[in-house]
Amino acid sequence: MATTVTTLEKTTTIQSDDGMGGGSPKAMTLRSPLLTKKGGKGGDGSAGAKHQQGMKCCGHRPCELVSYDKLPEFLKHNEFIVDHYRSEWPVKDALLSAFSIHNETINVWTHLIGFFVFLALTVCAATMVPMEFEASHSAMAASTGPVANITGGNALVLRSYSGDGTVVAMRALRDASVAADTVSAAAGHRVARWPFYAYLCGAMFCLLMSSACHLLACHSEHASYVFLRLDYAGITGLIVTSFYPLVYYTFLCDPFFQALYLGFITASGAAAVAVSLLPVFERPQLRWARAGLFACMAASGLVPILHKMLVFGARPEAVVTTGYEMAMGAFYLAGVLVYATRVPERWMPGRFDLAGHSHQLFHVLVIAGAYAHYLAGLVYLSWRDVEGC
Ligand SMILES: [Zn+2]
Repeated sequence: MATTVTTLEKTTTIQSDDGMGGGSPKAMTLRSPLLTKKGGKGGDGSAGAKHQQGMKCCGHRPCELVSYDKLPEFLKHNEFIVDHYRSEWPVKDALLSAFSIHNETINVWTHLIGFFVFLALTVCAATMVPMEFEASHSAMAASTGPVANITGGNALVLRSYSGDGTVVAMRALRDASVAADTVSAAAGHRVARWPFYAYLCGAMFCLLMSSACHLLACHSEHASYVFLRLDYAGITGLIVTSFYPLVYYTFLCDPFFQALYLGFITASGAAAVAVSLLPVFERPQLRWARAGLFACMAASGLVPILHKMLVFGARPEAVVTTGYEMAMGAFYLAGVLVYATRVPERWMPGRFDLAGHSHQLFHVLVIAGAYAHYLAGLVYLSWRDVEGC
């Protein structure tokens, strides 16, 4: 009995549809939602170009890439990139566009891959640094003379990330000097890790926000405003947290300068985020002002670095970390110049729309600079783990 009732109800529903639309009941059921949408679109057939542009992405029609001159003002950032823009795409299509080719694809993926690289480095550091610490102590105890000790310790730290063979070598060294290890472990201590992890988190936040911004800012003017602010906040966070390992570990025994430098850069970062909230900040004409603000913040790192060289200049750790910091500075400076000058696309507009334009180069240079600073962080950790204050 129950089965019969269900069948009747179904039949009634289908018959009702059939009666309204005629033809095949099944065809009517499938077609009606599309027809409704089509009707809505048809009414806007004579609307302006911008409105039509938005409509191109609705319903069943695929999103289309457009040229620079068809963009709304809020998406016009670089006139030397001529084509392959996404304009006012729905969120879902913008998200899926990570897997299609347009002029932001490489911008999205360079920093998304960078994010996962730094995530892996964070896991690596969390699991391997304790081993490093013990190995550094072994090296300290097994070597003779203070300079040889420190150099040996650093070399082990850096090699510990290069492969399993080194880990085996470290274990052999550890096994061979059990007595010395015991002595040094009793004297040693682990320095605080938070400045190093704050930096890694700053780098990951920057890379993730940048990637999200490149993927989703095309959705709407509001999305563009929000994601650009998150992008600027990410850059600021990367710069500020880059100071943390440098200042914290260098001035571990000098709380005054430690607090002074950390306070200065944190306050500067907060001010930069506040300034970047102003709508005027994203104007294309202010490209140099934006680059200048971030460059000045980063350049202020020269003060604690020079201070470090004055106090610890003769020590290998100071020389090695300063070398990495100079490499980081060179990568960032090159990145800022490329970003602000928009080379190479300004030389051949349209030629580098999909691959090779300045923003992609800027992204790669940022990752290279951040990695150089990560290596400096490892040296700081081993220095202060071995030596303390
Ligand atoms: Zn970017």
